[in-house]
Amino acid sequence: MATINGAVIPVTPLQQNCSVFWDDEAKLATVIDPGGDAPRIVEMLEVQGLTVEQILLTHGHFDHAAGVQALNRLIAERQGAPVPIVGPHRDDAFLLDALAEDGAAFGILEAQPVTPDRWLDEGETVTIAGKDFAIYHCPGHSPGSLVYVNEEARFAIVGDVLFQGSIGRTDFPYGDHDALISGIRAKLFPLGDDITFICGHGPGSTFGAERLGNPFVGEGR
Ligand SMILES: [Zn+2]
Ligand SMILES: [Zn+2]
Repeated sequence: MATINGAVIPVTPLQQNCSVFWDDEAKLATVIDPGGDAPRIVEMLEVQGLTVEQILLTHGHFDHAAGVQALNRLIAERQGAPVPIVGPHRDDAFLLDALAEDGAAFGILEAQPVTPDRWLDEGETVTIAGKDFAIYHCPGHSPGSLVYVNEEARFAIVGDVLFQGSIGRTDFPYGDHDALISGIRAKLFPLGDDITFICGHGPGSTFGAERLGNPFVGEGR
């Protein structure tokens, strides 16, 4: 059976986590949240000998999506055609429409608006590196934030919903602190303490460690 491989590439001066997952046999890769530094991402793809099959987004913030168009142009040069842009939930469309302005405000000049080829929603699945991932809609940090979970591998990709020792910021006009906390507790923690996750910033963790010790959503709170 093909194994799933992954690498996290911190991108831009903000050092947010772009990640790449691929299967060993077909060498087909999914790039998740390319916030910028598209040439560095392509360099990594070349080193590993990977063909990109899709770009996947966890949510619409510029630090996760500003590099999508630049990356897809480089992919088109390498592979002959751009790849589909998949996710997030369509409630983040207004953020993806505003990427050029939001990115420029933070000096990410390659930022361009993005219209995904496929929006995703809870209850659907998305295939990453040959494995099916369940989709959970966890709004609050952004209205369209999605979490991708492969229960068999006990692995989740949570974007900016949950961090090691923290949760996504909700001090935006559209932020919803209570929705974020109840989403994490009602949808993610019941999946199991042993699920390991990677997130949009900093190191990953497990649902169990956060269920116990996270100061925002932990039980000790
Ligand atoms: Zn975000
Ligand atoms: Zn972020």
